[in-house]
Amino acid sequence: MPGFKRDYYEVLGVDRNATEQEIKKAYRRLALKYHPDKNPENKEAEEKFKEAAEAYSVLCDQKKRALYDRYGHGGLGPGDRFTGFDESIFADFSDILGDFFGLGDIFGTRSRARRRPVAEPGADLRYNLEISFEEATQGVETKIKIPQMDRCQHCRGTGDASGKGPTTCPLCQGSGQLFYQQGFFRIGRTCSQCQGSGQVIRNPCSYCRGTGRLRKEKSLSIKIPAGVDNGTYLRIQGEGEAGMRGGQPGDLYVVIHVRPHQFFSREGKDIYCEIPITFSQAALGGEVEVPTLNGRVKLNLPAGTQSGTLFKLKGKGIKDIHSYGKGDQFVKVVLRTPARLTREQRELFRKLAATEEKLPSPDNKDFFQKVKEFLKG
Ligand SMILES: [Zn+2]
Ligand SMILES: [Zn+2]
Repeated sequence: MPGFKRDYYEVLGVDRNATEQEIKKAYRRLALKYHPDKNPENKEAEEKFKEAAEAYSVLCDQKKRALYDRYGHGGLGPGDRFTGFDESIFADFSDILGDFFGLGDIFGTRSRARRRPVAEPGADLRYNLEISFEEATQGVETKIKIPQMDRCQHCRGTGDASGKGPTTCPLCQGSGQLFYQQGFFRIGRTCSQCQGSGQVIRNPCSYCRGTGRLRKEKSLSIKIPAGVDNGTYLRIQGEGEAGMRGGQPGDLYVVIHVRPHQFFSREGKDIYCEIPITFSQAALGGEVEVPTLNGRVKLNLPAGTQSGTLFKLKGKGIKDIHSYGKGDQFVKVVLRTPARLTREQRELFRKLAATEEKLPSPDNKDFFQKVKEFLKG
């Protein structure tokens, strides 16, 4: 009934002439009995707890008690009246009593927050996978073997031999707390049988010793997409370690390591290579063959190509792992000076040299002029 207030003495179950001690004692008994931590989800207990706290707040105060005795509920002014609760009263109450008596956690509020669920998720795993340059650029499907904790088949991962999973702890009846009486108080301690979880494996599986997991090597086929690079990782959901006692499995992270290529190097989506060309190819121009990721292609060198010139082969790079785009291949031509000449070649080079003296290029003239000026200083 809204607005209806029970008599405070009646609430605490004490006589109108009760001493301060008797009121305190009555209140503590009710507070311990109806504390929300001991009566989870119980609205009625919560109301009773609040009612007792309100009655106590008035009757423990001599001035308020005198007013209440003379005028009843109406006798309490706005400042004296009990106006409402916030949740902190529950915490305060347990903290004050607990700290005051040095008993730690009487109501189990702190242990309850600490309570671990029986099932625990499995750990994520990291697997370092070395692949070749070609595999990285073209993608590959490969089998890997991961030593890991896997779900125990004998108990279906529950840790319980019957396969049913954990049951309520018989010692604490699932509360995770053991209470014992010390004088006036009931004192809570974390349950020794279930370590506060409130649940136990009654008949532990003999294969996994109640953990629900077994160590074994797991073979897994994975698909590496084209375009992965050093340090790229693939997350494979649910292939990490199995959870404990029915918990969710972790994920597997496959971290890619690409072996360097003897010919190609890579920068993002683009690949680079160097090809040697001869003097005559550089001077006269012509076709050279260049290896790419997809076979050889022909590259046309213009006459007079300088050593170190970079040519671009469009779209011959690496596929973008995130889109349809493709990188390019850059080909650096490097002039290879012949180390050994045949007699005939030497003769030809001499003839060539003779023509060069007669036809100094403007560039050369400029260069020699600069050297002279430099030496004069
Ligand atoms: Zn227990
Ligand atoms: Zn098992």
